[in-house]
Amino acid sequence: MKIITSHYIDGAFVESHGREVMDIVRPTDGQVIGRATLADEEDTRRAIAAARRAFATYGRSTQEERAEILRRMHKAASARLDDLTAAMVEEYGGVVQFARLIVESGVNAFAAAEKALHEIEWTRSWGKTTVTLEPVGVAGLITAWNANALFICLKLASAAAAGCTVVIKPSELSSLQTQVLIEALHEAKLPKGLLNVVTGLGSTVGAELVRNPNVDKISFTGSVAVGETIMRDGAATMKRVTLELGGKSPTILLDDADIAQAIPAALIMAFLNSGQACAAGTRLLVPRTRFEDVKRVIADAMHAFTVGDPADPKIAVGPMVSQKQYDRVQSYIRKGIEEGAEVLVGGEGRPEGLKAGYFVKPTVFVNVKNDMTIAQEEIFGPVLSVITYDSEDEAISIANDSRYGLHAAVLGTDTQRARRVASQLRAGRVVINGMTDDPQAPWGGFKYSGVGREYGRYGIEAFVETRAILES
Ligand code: NAD
Repeated sequence: MKIITSHYIDGAFVESHGREVMDIVRPTDGQVIGRATLADEEDTRRAIAAARRAFATYGRSTQEERAEILRRMHKAASARLDDLTAAMVEEYGGVVQFARLIVESGVNAFAAAEKALHEIEWTRSWGKTTVTLEPVGVAGLITAWNANALFICLKLASAAAAGCTVVIKPSELSSLQTQVLIEALHEAKLPKGLLNVVTGLGSTVGAELVRNPNVDKISFTGSVAVGETIMRDGAATMKRVTLELGGKSPTILLDDADIAQAIPAALIMAFLNSGQACAAGTRLLVPRTRFEDVKRVIADAMHAFTVGDPADPKIAVGPMVSQKQYDRVQSYIRKGIEEGAEVLVGGEGRPEGLKAGYFVKPTVFVNVKNDMTIAQEEIFGPVLSVITYDSEDEAISIANDSRYGLHAAVLGTDTQRARRVASQLRAGRVVINGMTDDPQAPWGGFKYSGVGREYGRYGIEAFVETRAILES
């Protein structure tokens, strides 16, 4: 049983002022494996005060000093890659093959931020005018559970590169991985108060960060509902906000695609992180002329999406994070059936042989219409909707007919054509012929998928203000 009773404030682990205790539940069997004492408003205010004090010095640090700090964080976090992966697998049931990649991209975010830091033009001058990029101040970083360690690293790296000090409110469902990461970063011997971490509920710690006038910026990853609250409540203190929200990402299979390759690629994107990924490609748009072939290949390829113990490297789909998330996914599968979609693979209930834990059946619906609930709402589980189209224009219009616009994919043989289609999609990122990443390319959404961007120079620029000095 792991017991966590402290927060990280002003360079030290300090006992929680908050007294509420939360169970840490293992999603593979529902057993309580630890307890975390949650922070309250007082802990949060202490963390904000520490960050504010530290900003007086760190906000004036040089580019080289920040680069050195990023290198130290990279080294310290790299030393705990295995422990971080293990914590993710145990705590939220992330399958090990994916959890490892997530942790690696988190750790690499420090190196990527250092690279971007050197590429940004921090000062521009012309005539008698000089424009500099200045850190925005104290940043409140609020993360979701589904890749908590990655979000913490990413936001911290960008904020620190910009010269901001931070108070992190990790997801309350991620105390174990947060603890490992903070222990690691403590070894980086950062300036006191640059990094503060208070784990607690959104309604207490998160809300305090959003309303506190000593916090200048909120960078948030989570649901649209909470994103709306942050934007509204943050307005009272004129908070700068970056919001990374949900998605209902389309994958367009063009009629020249090699189905044998394209379908497995589409399924990997659909079932990323057991479907609990903001970028999951949960709407697959296929040409009507190839629908029968597609169905056959999907049914076949789904054998590779085995469900079970996330620590087993052969397993592709782990449990949902919680009973609540399990119930949510079940209710969407039921809704899909009620609205007339046809279950090709999967369906309601637990997979055979998995009686305990929050496991669901990876499910593929066909004969889905884009206005059905399962095609419009983010399910955040392994549920794919297959929708047919008759022309390229119709495929683009269905893809864009969503309140979300985070991610999209195009699969096809003619690259020029795939690029042409990609350029018409209203999404922050479009991948061609399979999932891929570039830590210098911006990440973020159009429409309800969010406000602002993360990654590389775009992520750092989200933590700066411009100051122009004009001489007469
Ligand atoms: P959530 O919105 O419930 O919680 C996210 C964070 O916000 C948590 O730390 C939570 O404690 C906090 N919070 C809750 N209420 C708050 C309040 N009133 N004020 C301030 N903070 C508050 O989301 P979740 O269930 O943790 O994550 C799933 C969602 O996150 C999905 O919608 C998913 O698409 C989205 N997500 C987006 C991205 C992206 O990069 N765009 C990445 C991952 C997840």
